[in-house]
Amino acid sequence: MNKAILLDRDGVINRERNDYTFRIEDFEILPDVVEALKLLQKAGYLLIIISNQSGIGRGLFKIEDTEKMHGHLLKKLEKEKIHIEEIYYCVHHPETGSCLCRKPDSLHVEKALARFTIDPSLSYFIGDKERDILAGEKAGVKGILMESNSSLVKAIEPCIKK
Ligand SMILES: [Mg+2]
Ligand SMILES: [Zn+2]
Repeated sequence: MNKAILLDRDGVINRERNDYTFRIEDFEILPDVVEALKLLQKAGYLLIIISNQSGIGRGLFKIEDTEKMHGHLLKKLEKEKIHIEEIYYCVHHPETGSCLCRKPDSLHVEKALARFTIDPSLSYFIGDKERDILAGEKAGVKGILMESNSSLVKAIEPCIKK
């Protein structure tokens, strides 16, 4: 079985702007993300991003905007030899019906665990909101809560020392 680090996107990978981020020009990768992801990869973890993007369900931007931005992110990371297995994101509006993929619900976590044969007990969910931690915990994945836009290298310490 594999082990993985599940990462929230906004505030963990790219700067949390306290607004919807859907334009490449607003997508600022945080300073030590590349270093942190390299360390995690070297330690044998698969890397997966799980994000809430309700701005799509709210009609503020389109799936294509998000896909384009994610393409840009993946290309930048690939240049650093960092491979992200998948970026899962919930597109739903929180007030219209209940999907099971918007964090704190755990559908995307469970999908990732099944698809990539991940042992949850060896894995972590790193996020900057309580709902990130809850989504992981529902699927048996330990959470690491970090402050928005803070050092990811620091946040991953429990994942790499052993
Ligand atoms: Mg966040
Ligand atoms: Zn959803």
